[in-house]
Amino acid sequence: MTRRILAMLALVALCGGVSPGGTRCAWGMEKVTFRHQDHSLQVEGKVLAEDRQGGVLLLGRDGRMWTIGADELLQRETTPEPFIPFSKEELGKRLLAELGPGFQLYSTKHYLICYNTSDAFARWTGAMFERLYRAFHTFWKRKRFQLHEPEFPLVALVFADRASFERYAREALGDAVKEVIGFYNQRTNRMVLVDLTGVAPQRRRYMTSREIRRLLSRPGAERTVATVIHEATHQIAYNTGLQRRFSDVPVWVSEGLAMYFEVPDLKSSRGWRGLGKVNPVRARGFLQYFPKRPPDSLVQLMKDDKRFRDPQQMHHAYDEAWAWYFFLMKTRPQQMVQYHQLLAQKPVLRWDTPQKRLEEFTGIFGPLPPLEKAFFRFLKSLR
Ligand SMILES: [Zn+2]
Repeated sequence: MTRRILAMLALVALCGGVSPGGTRCAWGMEKVTFRHQDHSLQVEGKVLAEDRQGGVLLLGRDGRMWTIGADELLQRETTPEPFIPFSKEELGKRLLAELGPGFQLYSTKHYLICYNTSDAFARWTGAMFERLYRAFHTFWKRKRFQLHEPEFPLVALVFADRASFERYAREALGDAVKEVIGFYNQRTNRMVLVDLTGVAPQRRRYMTSREIRRLLSRPGAERTVATVIHEATHQIAYNTGLQRRFSDVPVWVSEGLAMYFEVPDLKSSRGWRGLGKVNPVRARGFLQYFPKRPPDSLVQLMKDDKRFRDPQQMHHAYDEAWAWYFFLMKTRPQQMVQYHQLLAQKPVLRWDTPQKRLEEFTGIFGPLPPLEKAFFRFLKSLR
């Protein structure tokens, strides 16, 4: 969450009780002109929230969110048209214009992939994302949580090499870009990743999808692929009504969910067998942390998101979030669906107090001590 968003805590959501997509009310469209990096920019979209000073949260027709402070806002103009997202064709044109020469488009049912690497890698990416998308939908459908189709085409930018990836991603990530191979950006709603094959560009041109699949199914590549799946899970969750962008979903839930899905299954071309299995890396991490863990570890994990922001605690927080989410999903699936339903309705830019968070959780799952005891018993099955 950026500083700018946190500075806009006073924003008032304009569309509170809406469908889980959060963006499906009958809105008029506005043309908003504002200052952006020393020039002025006009964006068509709908204003989701505004603060008392006149700052706004604007959702553009490409799915991008803009937080515009009152001091940056130059003009707001209502249009007679309703808000309609860009079509895939229109969005594709804009992406090509933005990214410049060397980029091409590859489109699948839900995704629009803009890439400057090999066609085969773009196809591999599209196929994997679609497979994940299907597995995700089926998973929630079986649990009777009805997701909706994405309102916007799901954009993925795939860069041929680290240099071009870092040039693009630096604006969003700063120096952290060096440690990242792919990420989902809540603000732009895009997946951004680098070609994972690591093969020289001359050879890459002749690679087939099959070779790529073989290369990335090797044990050494598994974590790399898991990272991309993890990030792509976030994108799907935020675009199908499970979560709403810029709303207060506890980090342990959104990360627990992404880690539940991240275990890759690259051998089969259709199914997704990794789903719902123990995530070996996270399980190992959590079991190592377990003896050192303070007694109020879960309360700290759930009441706010501080542990995820503290570099000293971050890794343990992720591992614990996986274990806790996994335990709850396996042993209390109905309550988990109920909890997700509650979180899906969270309004944009309103942050709950730690107490409210805990109360909402225990309101559905019951008091924490007995649940924690059951959790400890469950952990034995992970050893
Ligand atoms: Zn994540």
